[in-house]
Amino acid sequence: MKNISSKLPNAKTTIFTTIGNLARQHNAIDLSQGFPNFEADSKLMRLVTKAMSDGYNQYAPMFGSFPLREAIVQKIKALHGKSYHVEKEITITVGATQAIYTAITAFVNQGDEVIVFKPAYDCYEPAIAINGGVSILVEMNGDRFKIDWEKFRVRITPKTKMVIINTPHNPSGTLLSKNDMLALQQSLLGTDIILISDEVYEHIVFDDLTHESVSRFPDLASRSIVCGSFGKTFHVTGWKVGYCVAPAELMQEFRKIHQFNVFSVDHPTQRALAQYLQEPKHYLELSDFYQKKRDYFINALNQSSFKVLPSQGTYFQLLDYSALTDENDVSYAQKLITNHRLACIPISVFNIDQKDNQKLRFCFAKTQATLKKAINILNSLK
Ligand code: PMP
Ligand code: GLN
Repeated sequence: MKNISSKLPNAKTTIFTTIGNLARQHNAIDLSQGFPNFEADSKLMRLVTKAMSDGYNQYAPMFGSFPLREAIVQKIKALHGKSYHVEKEITITVGATQAIYTAITAFVNQGDEVIVFKPAYDCYEPAIAINGGVSILVEMNGDRFKIDWEKFRVRITPKTKMVIINTPHNPSGTLLSKNDMLALQQSLLGTDIILISDEVYEHIVFDDLTHESVSRFPDLASRSIVCGSFGKTFHVTGWKVGYCVAPAELMQEFRKIHQFNVFSVDHPTQRALAQYLQEPKHYLELSDFYQKKRDYFINALNQSSFKVLPSQGTYFQLLDYSALTDENDVSYAQKLITNHRLACIPISVFNIDQKDNQKLRFCFAKTQATLKKAINILNSLK
């Protein structure tokens, strides 16, 4: 085949796969890709087994299993006060990745502009490019990755079709505040701009901060596709079950794409998740659970050479290593694996032009024993 014209000529294998492979080769402690190294609740596993033996082994409905859609809609109503229609305004997806990809595909046409805040999770820009869209990159500022809403406003043009936000934010571990959401809402008033809100870490928020879902802000909600994922919330990233909610007219377009690239999602896990969601403590206790891990990790690094600004949400902690070396983050992360057998993610890969600011991302969704080994290595680096 001589004439394959690639749709993504510059795409490389994702950092999660390359670092993960290197970590395995060197038998490193792996705090790179975001996934727990402990098991999910055995009750949840039993519910899947039961759903299988109860016969939920054929295609689920195209929008998703009814009890799961109902449970999610009730959860959003209870937490954020917003009612979504269970038949028309929610679809179960193959993780949040598919929800985001399908939403971009449903709305972005050739030449449309999509505003993306950087650093950004890596699945947004390729999906925009595949659909002929143009990513307009707006950099977040400072150690707390704040958005300058004035800078954002001047990037809005008649071609702006969509904006993508992510809170709690991967990789920075920061949150958008209520004022941020109000500024965003104000900036989009009177436009037809569609918003994708990636809220996969909605239940992992620390220090009594609040997750400000777009579903709390009526004008934002009226233009938004809000994406969630059970992988993060119930420690089952491998199940790849997520969802999105959106007003009916947006969801109708979303489903036109969804029905032909996925049709429907794994059935027994949907039945199990619907049951498991009946007990709110299963997600309401998650922030405390992860705050203990975050605190254990950062307190143990008190005397280290790393600069630590506590993560506000997600299960990621950034460490600034500028006191240790001038080396760029990609080569320092590689050295940590090959010389010290500890793996993390260099965050320049999520930045505009891969700009390096000497920060590494560590996933603390790990057992105490794994975190302790990582801490010992980090404290030994001088
Ligand atoms: N968005 C963000 C910010 C993520 O960190 C992730 C993955 N971890 C996803 C989306 C994708 O979620 P899923 O695994 O449910 O596809
Ligand atoms: N979301 C995970 C992370 O940020 C990675 C998922 C993936 O490998 N695509 O670590």
